[in-house]
Amino acid sequence: MAETRTRKCPICGKPSAEAYKPFCSKRCADVDLNRWLTGSYVIPARDDEPVADASDDE
Ligand SMILES: [Zn+2]
Repeated sequence: MAETRTRKCPICGKPSAEAYKPFCSKRCADVDLNRWLTGSYVIPARDDEPVADASDDE
């Protein structure tokens, strides 16, 4: 083994597990997935915003 450095779990900082890389457990993987889902993938809010179509006025 050339690489002795163990990657740490980005969630809790524990050494990552082979099965859940780069996380240490499924739990942490889930936590990260959740963060990703709620952070990057923004669920459309139920805003009753009036559709202002500026390009559609003749
Ligand atoms: Zn972890």
